[in-house]
Amino acid sequence: MPVTSYILALGSNRRGRHGSPCCEVQAALAAIGGVRATSRIHETAPLGPSIRRFANAVAWIDSDETPDALLRRLKRIERAFGRRRGQRWGARVIDLDIVLWSGGCWRGPDLIVPHLHYRTRRFVLAPLAEIAAGWRDPVTGRRTRMLLHAVDRRRPCA
Ligand code: AMP
Repeated sequence: MPVTSYILALGSNRRGRHGSPCCEVQAALAAIGGVRATSRIHETAPLGPSIRRFANAVAWIDSDETPDALLRRLKRIERAFGRRRGQRWGARVIDLDIVLWSGGCWRGPDLIVPHLHYRTRRFVLAPLAEIAAGWRDPVTGRRTRMLLHAVDRRRPCA
């Protein structure tokens, strides 16, 4: 497959062997490779019942993998970082999601791209706007900066 671009979302709210959540995000970026641009690392209040704050970032990577192959590799990295399945809102050393793909839309057995929830998640849209404000969502046709404005209009204090 020719080289394509992906937008990945990274999050951590638990110390791991690399150190703080911020260090875990940086170590994950190094493990993923092919990174063309990264956002700042944002400290974000937790979603759901978890009390731990998150370190969140977004990365633009180049890869010749299909979306399914990239997801499999991201899952291997999550396991190597000590991520355990089954705790949706629990503490997690690293969470890696595929947000967008330059090829547009993809549906695999375990994967939907664009990520189903990114359009309403400020902790994804704010870092995404730092590196890809003009990226157009292939489903809604709206650019990242417009999606972020829409979220901020609904929740002006978030
Ligand atoms: P998570 O809790 O974020 O690790 O996601 C749980 C599952 O969502 C993963 O194991 C994937 O099979 C599935 N999934 C569906 N769409 C995506 C996506 N765009 N990026 C990452 N995982 C996805």
